[in-house]
Amino acid sequence: MKLLSYFRGETFARGIHPAAHKEMASRPIRRLSFAPRLVVPLSQHIGKPSKPLVRAGEEVVRGQPIAEADGWLSVPQHAPATGVVEAIELRPSARGPWMQSIVLRVHEGSGQEVLWRNPRDPDALAPAELVAAIRDTGMVGLGGAAFPSHAKLAVPKGATVQALVVNGCECEPYLTCDHRLMVERAADLIAGTRTAMRACGAPLAVIGVEDNKPDAAEAIRAVLPDDGSIAVEQVPTKYPQGSEKMLIIALFGVEVPSGALPISLGLVVNNVGTLVALGRLLPAGEGLIERVVTVAGAGVERPGNYLVPLGTPLAFVLECAGARGCVCELVLGGPMMGQAVASLDAPVTKGVSGVLVLRAEDLASGRRRVYPCIKCGECVESCPMGLNPSALGMLAARREYKRMASEFHLGDCFECGCCSYACPSGIPLVQSFRVAKQVLRERATA
Ligand code: SF4
Ligand code: SF4
Repeated sequence: MKLLSYFRGETFARGIHPAAHKEMASRPIRRLSFAPRLVVPLSQHIGKPSKPLVRAGEEVVRGQPIAEADGWLSVPQHAPATGVVEAIELRPSARGPWMQSIVLRVHEGSGQEVLWRNPRDPDALAPAELVAAIRDTGMVGLGGAAFPSHAKLAVPKGATVQALVVNGCECEPYLTCDHRLMVERAADLIAGTRTAMRACGAPLAVIGVEDNKPDAAEAIRAVLPDDGSIAVEQVPTKYPQGSEKMLIIALFGVEVPSGALPISLGLVVNNVGTLVALGRLLPAGEGLIERVVTVAGAGVERPGNYLVPLGTPLAFVLECAGARGCVCELVLGGPMMGQAVASLDAPVTKGVSGVLVLRAEDLASGRRRVYPCIKCGECVESCPMGLNPSALGMLAARREYKRMASEFHLGDCFECGCCSYACPSGIPLVQSFRVAKQVLRERATA
């Protein structure tokens, strides 16, 4: 791949153009106050849960490590506020299952100052030391995947990284937290990008921003280093442009092979929110204790982008942002790939980029009857992976899950929801694909 002549201004085939609902992109980030109790799950990431370092009754200060990583694919957790550990017990998670969590009663006088720090000079650390320091921050992918950042930046033996791809697309409707971070914290983004480049050995970084965010691209260009090692490219606005495979097609014109990772092409992808946080946390020596969350939807009075302490119960977020009308459903993330919340007691965790608040009337008007497939091909026309969602849907209805995987490449479906969105018959295609994958996973481990 010839890196310096990579960008052709084109993008992936198919995809959709849902209504953006990004009005809040112009509103600055605001801080949320501390809830009386914060619930810090030991598993906020892909990988093994962290191991508690504290006991019930122990006093902790804001920023203090309260749980350590347990193995390579795990990260530590830090106290989001000063207070006392009330309990370490099972608490509801947003997806339903209860999870072992550290419950912190926040002291009334807890302020914003981070009282536990271990400042590092990223420029003085060797790549392996940088990876270890990144792990100490508890950083995970803040775009929603929550994959431990140190594991992503630790390049496998024998692999060479040609470029770091920085994902600033934020193609999901409603979500604007990454947009605001690019506008307000562009210098931190560049600092985090440089750190990530050094950690993974990338000589070049390309920040991909959808062309509906010209102010973000402009803010970043104003602080780019002079050495030409970091570039910003505006890519066409289209859903799901923010999926890493689609962004790589847009920037480099190459496809990540089926079943492979971007590293197979010498690429490592990170979300802008992750790198903004890294750019600030590492030199300051702080752990990840808060994140920016878009709170949006017709059911909220004061929508916006809030800096939320991790562990804040969703009920408290809703109370601060103001519920409007009869709120009957919360979705974590955006409307395309987000998941309905099982309990308002569940906390905001590292992977939560948005809280979409829906009223009963919104759901009633959005709910559709399901009709038989009319073989119109709209789903096939919309699938960015070139799959046949219609055939997959019919097999799912017959519970022929094995055939879905072996003959129709179910494993390549990344659940973007384009097919469900496009289907005039209202067939819940992506939902049935999720069920199929879950069943196959369970069968594989049985
Ligand atoms: S959900 Fe899967 S099958 Fe449907 S459009 Fe997206 S990638 Fe294709
Ligand atoms: S879009 Fe819906 S109705 Fe049309 S072919 Fe696909 S599944 Fe069938």
